[in-house]
Amino acid sequence: DISLLWLRQDLRLHDQPALVAATQAGAVIPVYILDDDAAGEWAIGGAQRWWLHHSLAALGDALDAKHSRLILRRGDSVTILRDLMQETGATRIHALRHYEPWWRKAEAALGDAITLYDGNHLARIEDVTTGSGAPFRIFSSFWKALQTQLPPDAPVAAPRTCPAPDHWPKSDALADWALLPSKPDWSGGFADWKPGETEALAKAKRFAKQADDYETQRNLPAADGTSRLSPHLHHGEISPRQVIHALGDHADDGFVREIAWRDFTSGVLLALPDYGTVNGRAKFDALPWRDDAAAKRDLKAWQRGRTGYPIVDAGMRQLWQSGWMHNRVRMITASFLVKHLLIDWRAGERWFWDCLVDADYGNNSVNWQWIAGTGVDANMFSRIMAPLGQSEKFDAGDYIRRWVPELADVPDDAIHDPDEHGVRPESYPAKIIGHREARERALAAQKAMK
Ligand code: FAD
Repeated sequence: DISLLWLRQDLRLHDQPALVAATQAGAVIPVYILDDDAAGEWAIGGAQRWWLHHSLAALGDALDAKHSRLILRRGDSVTILRDLMQETGATRIHALRHYEPWWRKAEAALGDAITLYDGNHLARIEDVTTGSGAPFRIFSSFWKALQTQLPPDAPVAAPRTCPAPDHWPKSDALADWALLPSKPDWSGGFADWKPGETEALAKAKRFAKQADDYETQRNLPAADGTSRLSPHLHHGEISPRQVIHALGDHADDGFVREIAWRDFTSGVLLALPDYGTVNGRAKFDALPWRDDAAAKRDLKAWQRGRTGYPIVDAGMRQLWQSGWMHNRVRMITASFLVKHLLIDWRAGERWFWDCLVDADYGNNSVNWQWIAGTGVDANMFSRIMAPLGQSEKFDAGDYIRRWVPELADVPDDAIHDPDEHGVRPESYPAKIIGHREARERALAAQKAMK
């Protein structure tokens, strides 16, 4: 028998139950389809295309080493898979389950032809529900329920061989997909990333050595205190249970709890597939977001890292230059856009979608709605983060000096708010809006909504 192995955000050969099942059934044709239509407005963004290019190249090499191949096709997934079955005589599609609504739709359309396996989460998402079988809306309750299913099963090994069919179908050339930026090539700052399964596993092992300090370091933007596994996890170059396995005794609850957020956001998508565009609480549809020319200028200043708030600007420049941002700073910059600038969270979510190498429909939308206070969870709109206070509390001085070179010479006591200390260099903008003024405007908008 011949099977298709449909790879999506699971670009790995280890802990890949769909691959194991396919090889047990006979010859395997691994396929990746660049499907910009199915996802519609959520077609993958620029930074992620860069990642995808390198990740597919690495996976292709790994398959070549097993005397197999990675077949690349572009277009509507369902049509291409059906055509490939006809063309190759394959009788079955094996794939891991994904929770993005466009993937669920494609899986449903393939009906009996596809067999789905779990492998990208700590537990089966459908099994982590409330007593009455509903998905959780609040992370802490989800976490409690998930813990009863931990630790996860051990990862499954990669099959030693990957039996090839007698005839290979045609494949696109990766270069023809033009996933890498050309004019201009903005990816210079991405050089520290190394997409692919080998590096993902190596990085998890390296992180094991520092995981004991995770709780004390994870909120400090200047420290290298988190795993930076997010783009590897998003693209499925490593599974969450492989991460936990690699950490061994160092996998403390605090870290596993963060990994569990991925599972949680998939559960939210299962219940609310439009969460990327629709307010979790409908009353926020009436919030008077700013949307005039001044708001557009403010949005641009935020995107370019020119708000006059050093911690915000450092974060936005880290994002633009490296395709990633520290979690604490994601919270601060997101809150700043939504509350201080009173700009619809969806504008920020979009920007992150295009700029993040780890852009993930579930993780991005759930976190944005949580910060905005529009979500199904309990966070309140009126909780407004103070960016300058956060910057000081989490000791962001070195982080700011690294990402905002205009402030490289500003000393520690003034770095969080150089304006206030009278040491703001001319090349760095004044604050776009004062904290108190912004806070009052946000609270007034909330009142207007009522
Ligand atoms: P670590 O601290 O080492 O955590 C390990 C892993 O746990 C991460 O790689 C990630 O897979 C998962 N994780 C940790 N925190 C969260 C969280 N709050 N929500 C979901 N998963 C989490 N994460 C994404 O993967 N994709 C996104 O598009 C994304 N958008 C975000 C937008 C906003 C506004 C905010 C506040 C957070 C967002 N996050 C997103 C979550 C988080 O910031 C990143 O997962 C984290 O910074 C990645 O760095 P790390 O791998 O070093 O994390």
